[in-house]
Amino acid sequence: MFFVWHINKKMQDKIISYLAAVVTESFDRNIHVEIEYDLEISVDGWTYFDGDTIFVSYKNKIGLAHELVHVAQILNKRFNPDTQEWEEKLYKAEQPWEDEAYKLELEVQNKWLM
Ligand SMILES: [Zn+2]
Repeated sequence: MFFVWHINKKMQDKIISYLAAVVTESFDRNIHVEIEYDLEISVDGWTYFDGDTIFVSYKNKIGLAHELVHVAQILNKRFNPDTQEWEEKLYKAEQPWEDEAYKLELEVQNKWLM
């Protein structure tokens, strides 16, 4: 199971709906997803996973959509941001998880976060 926290309950429900639709794998323990809006960060968003909790910060909606693609990649066990493993291969220069996030972010924003 995964549990999503966002201070805005409407946005929290939208995020849960998106993840429920795209996450097909399950962890053997509960994963918490803590998402916060932060206007001060220098990038549109970032995601950090400590093994139990996925922390997301974002400063605009497209940044949130982008990071949610990464959250889904992590929950589906396709991407390990700690080791930079993607579908069981190690990557150094290429970042296929970013290619996918940039490709999907607009669709995720418009379909799930509006
Ligand atoms: Zn990214």
